[in-house]
Amino acid sequence: MDIPTEQPIGRPADDAAGQAVRQPSGQPEGRVAAAVAAAVHAVREIATVGEIPGMSDDALLAAVAAIEDVGRAVDAVRVAVSSEVVERSRPSLGSERLSRRKGCRNGYELLARVTLVAERTAVARARLGASILPRQSLPGEVLPAKLPLVAEALDAGALGLDAVSAITSMFAVVAGRAEPGLMRAAERALVGSAVGVDADTGEQVVPFTADQTRVQAVQWQTVLDPDGVQVDEDHARVGRAITKTGSHGGLIRYRMELLPEIAGRLERLFDACLTPKVTGRFLTPEEQAEALVTGDERTPAQQRHDVFAAILDAASRSAQMPTIGGAFPTVLVSVDAKELQAGTGAGWIDGIEEPVSMQAVKQFACTGGIQKGYFGPNGRLIALGSPDRGFTAQQRRGITLRDGGCIIPGCSIPAGWCETHHVEEHSRGGPTHIDNGVLLCWHHHHTIESSGWEIRMRSGVPYVRPPVWIERERTWRRATKARTRCGTKTATTISRT
Ligand SMILES: [Zn+2]
Repeated sequence: MDIPTEQPIGRPADDAAGQAVRQPSGQPEGRVAAAVAAAVHAVREIATVGEIPGMSDDALLAAVAAIEDVGRAVDAVRVAVSSEVVERSRPSLGSERLSRRKGCRNGYELLARVTLVAERTAVARARLGASILPRQSLPGEVLPAKLPLVAEALDAGALGLDAVSAITSMFAVVAGRAEPGLMRAAERALVGSAVGVDADTGEQVVPFTADQTRVQAVQWQTVLDPDGVQVDEDHARVGRAITKTGSHGGLIRYRMELLPEIAGRLERLFDACLTPKVTGRFLTPEEQAEALVTGDERTPAQQRHDVFAAILDAASRSAQMPTIGGAFPTVLVSVDAKELQAGTGAGWIDGIEEPVSMQAVKQFACTGGIQKGYFGPNGRLIALGSPDRGFTAQQRRGITLRDGGCIIPGCSIPAGWCETHHVEEHSRGGPTHIDNGVLLCWHHHHTIESSGWEIRMRSGVPYVRPPVWIERERTWRRATKARTRCGTKTATTISRT
């Protein structure tokens, strides 16, 4: 750390604390106050002498690690004092409880008021303390710590709160179901890995991050409580759910509680279709070029939504899908023909209360087709036009053979999940013909009018050109991802200018 040697970080606090300890009064109040004042002074000193922007990379990282040491030491004391406040505010003390005497409903509220932290933070600190630290059962009698090694490592500033809570929350789950000897072995192994000591050999090893500790704790859980996995799974099976929880700001909310294997399959589908930068993989040069070409500015959450839309599209087209009244599950959207023509107003999806934009209606019409109904002045349906079914399955197979997937360069949504788009709008006379249909994923179809990407058919072959903010020259390029045409890779290797 680039801190002048004549002024080491630790010394002022040590000295001040040492003086405080040597004070003849011997009152804990005085010693704590002096130590805290010295610690605060020392930490402020670090901020001013550190000159952070001028530090070298290595010095900066060393400083980050050293400051975290300070944070851990502070956290250990915070946990201890917080759980003591809650202990003194326990309901069994009646009107004598600390929180009551200070006018608060419980210890957590008292902590929040005194420290100004969020109440959930106060709860987390106090509960963490209660789960590991020794407790007085009767005045003068101190029970042993519930997790002595965790308590010791926390106290020594070697374990951070994230790691501690990863370990304690696992032990809380298996408590009373695991064999005591195994519990001790698990605690030794978990604390050892987290502080960087091999529990068997005592050798120094690279310490685990809190996230790695959490994963390791879950593995130990299956050892400590092997039946628990089945019990948990049985509970989970009962609890599995997809629930519609309401709507807000034009979005319909769902809560999904998925079994691990279902979540795993969903993640695999997301991974396969998200842009590489989202999945955090290292990119090949070709993928880098693609990522630039796509100019994808969607957040990972938005991308997952769009992949989900594509999955639904594929599922509803699947021949295995159960039919409703003899037809594939069809989404009905009603809209006023004049409004559709004018491009203003809203459409209504059967079974959903919220309106959808004309943009979304057009997308439905482009892919799914239209059937016109004619109403008389009294609201009676006078005539029903013949349905325009959109592209047939056979036409779609042909288009898939030609396009191979969403034709926007860099987009990885596969053909089976794409919608068929009329290049020349159907309402403007564009035919439902292979030479006028291309594959677009839900997202690129939804944004085709606003994204700046343009599509043109030349003798039955789709060409695309990027928006000006991706490529100034806006060159038309032949677009295909068909495996049989891998010689034509130009569309995926252009770079952003
Ligand atoms: Zn796409």
